[in-house]
Amino acid sequence: EAKRSGLNKVQCFTANLQTQLEKHLYLEKGLRYALENDQFDLHLQPQWTLEGQKVIGFEALLRWRYGAEGMVSPADFIPVAEKTGLIVPIGEWVLSRACQYLKEWQLLGINNCRIAINVSPLQLKAGKFVDALESIALAEGVSADLLEVEITEESLLDGIEEHGRVSTELSRLRGLGIKIAIDDFGTGYSSLRYLRQFPADVVKIDKSFVSSDREELFEPDICKAIVTMAESLSMEVIAEGIETPTQLLELQQLGCLLGQGFLVSRPLTFEEASQWALAGRPSPA
Ligand code: C2E
Ligand code: MG
Ligand code: MG
Ligand code: MG
Repeated sequence: EAKRSGLNKVQCFTANLQTQLEKHLYLEKGLRYALENDQFDLHLQPQWTLEGQKVIGFEALLRWRYGAEGMVSPADFIPVAEKTGLIVPIGEWVLSRACQYLKEWQLLGINNCRIAINVSPLQLKAGKFVDALESIALAEGVSADLLEVEITEESLLDGIEEHGRVSTELSRLRGLGIKIAIDDFGTGYSSLRYLRQFPADVVKIDKSFVSSDREELFEPDICKAIVTMAESLSMEVIAEGIETPTQLLELQQLGCLLGQGFLVSRPLTFEEASQWALAGRPSPA
């Protein structure tokens, strides 16, 4: 009996491994195809002042339009893109699309909305990201202070072992006038000392502290601690994942000034986001 269930477990395990591997290969092929066939899209989620909901910028979120299956979530394909190295060309596509958006806004007279792009530490380790950014932004005539780079707290910690490689690249970016935001803050166990040494301008409170299935803030004490810490390090704070008016109010009460979340807007198409940017606030639908 024990032997049989042991065997079942092994079979189960290999079966699972095989589908994982198959899924991986399938996604890898699909991602290459997507790059060559223009199946990616870059959506923009507004970031706003908690008081008055005035738009200050947007976070760029990658979308993969995938035939009959609809959209594939970046949470599913970014890890594969990282494992296969495809994150480098995909990341350059994101960067150039964001610069195109900023250029179009310039032509429309929108000069005060920044765009934050998510960057994988692997892009920074590959070593050409900053050069690519310089040449693309220059080519599009985009001013660096409208671009922001988000990097997760967790991935920053990997950077330590890479002898500060990631940190060096981020300093170069900052030298160009680009803002650095630490994403998903509070989930990566970084120390205060590390944060202090680290060149960043913005911390984003991870949405797991802000929203859950509850009406109120999920972890008010942690949110408060992050706001206080950021203040003392002169960093800006953005709370992500704001879904209810109560969460918004509680964040305001503990001194947070900026936010992002479904309460005010989901990620938008470029056209929708442009309406927002023109109006400076949520446009009447
Ligand atoms: P992230 O950078 O932390 O982005 C925030 C995620 O939270 C987005 O999911 C967004 O749609 C979602 N979100 C926004 N407001 C709310 C809310 O009120 N409630 C809830 N429950 N969720 C909210 P998305 O677009 O699925 O992206 C998932 C992750 O994939 C991102 O997390 C980011 O780490 C990664 N990602 C997305 N685009 C890119 C990209 O261009 N490059 C790289 N390297 N990673 C990307
Ligand atoms: Mg992000
Ligand atoms: Mg985040
Ligand atoms: Mg995340």
